[in-house]
Amino acid sequence: MSVSTLAADQSVCTLLPVLGRDVTVPLVTGGEVTYAALDYAASAPALQRVWDDVAAYAPYYGSVHRGAGYLSQLSTDLFENARRTVAEFLDCREDDQVVFTRSTTDSLNLLAAALPADCQVFVFETEHHASLLPWRDARVTYLDAPRTPAEAVATLERALVDRDPHGPALVCVTGASNVTGEIWPVRELAAAAHVHGARIVLDAAQLAPHHPVSVRELAVDWVAFSGHKLYAPFGSGVLAGRADWLSEAEPYLAGGGASRKVARRADGGVDVEWHVTAARHEAGSPNVIGAYSIASACKALTEAGFDTLVAREQYLIDTVRAGLAEVPEVRVLSLFGDDAPRVGVISFVVDGWNSSHFAAALSAEYGIGVRDGLFCAHPLVRTLLGSAPEAQGECGAPEAAPGEKSLNAIRVSFGAGT
Ligand code: PLP
Repeated sequence: MSVSTLAADQSVCTLLPVLGRDVTVPLVTGGEVTYAALDYAASAPALQRVWDDVAAYAPYYGSVHRGAGYLSQLSTDLFENARRTVAEFLDCREDDQVVFTRSTTDSLNLLAAALPADCQVFVFETEHHASLLPWRDARVTYLDAPRTPAEAVATLERALVDRDPHGPALVCVTGASNVTGEIWPVRELAAAAHVHGARIVLDAAQLAPHHPVSVRELAVDWVAFSGHKLYAPFGSGVLAGRADWLSEAEPYLAGGGASRKVARRADGGVDVEWHVTAARHEAGSPNVIGAYSIASACKALTEAGFDTLVAREQYLIDTVRAGLAEVPEVRVLSLFGDDAPRVGVISFVVDGWNSSHFAAALSAEYGIGVRDGLFCAHPLVRTLLGSAPEAQGECGAPEAAPGEKSLNAIRVSFGAGT
């Protein structure tokens, strides 16, 4: 069945392209295709400012922290300035560390590797797998999906009341869902964590590209985000926050750059003194272009002004949600309901349609690039769809008959940055 035979898709298909920036892409098989790219939650296109900054610096690329020559000095300055820019962008505390990583996944795995012994971890089942899974070596409590922001806080409080009050504890929570776009009550969750002596890490992968994130105002202990979702697709991410656990932990990777002093011992072994700064977890030659491009994006977003960006994005969100609401076959997925504040990430199912087929047809027939599947948040999407855990995952789900439950969803995502 062609998508265009469905009344539902006609509205969806005329609605969606207004959101996206048209991109013309060369095809591997030759030729090119122009389409509306609406998958910013996966990876957002680079800002022009980021391309320009990277192009201007690229000819002078050099090693960081390693050379006496000008190229090396320039690269070291840009890398360390990028750290300061990110600290400002996140409104970090004086003594917070900013560690450059590969991505949000990498940042959260780094923090998981740095947990003190016997740390208890509390995480909602609604998290993206990047924040759900890194804690498997710790004592993890998985919290049920809340149906309101207030219920999220109450659920966390109940779980923390029962925890061992003497040991360390960490709460991991997303700032904005990569499935529903809904913004979580981070400040309230941080307050609850702290009252019970726990710390909190914010997965800001979907929040930071859309809203200002202030470590001080939210009172979170750490923040993680990815460059490629913040319009800086050059393979880098950030973990920023409290220095103590990071400075006391074994280095994430062992190697040059993380070590301050290495010496052979009389017994033939090797003694190592590790850095206690962010360098401790940045062994090897760092991704200077990645760090530089994140800083460039941070500056561009700050200069554009989040008030303006948020207002523009809210208009797009309202437009697409109103349009989808007019299509009877469409059900938008939501945990917290219509009034929840949200970013430009909207997932839905179309009654009677396999979401993978629908998304493929949106691309092939209408030139609209969206994502389909369970969005690396399997427990959440299954809860929202009301499907059993054994239901099939990302692809290959059988076509749902009209009235039947879909096994996966379609996601459209966008931002006002570009
Ligand atoms: N957290 C959330 C909420 C996400 O949406 C994603 C990616 O989609 C991640 C973490 C992981 O980000 P990355 O793939 O850049 O590590």
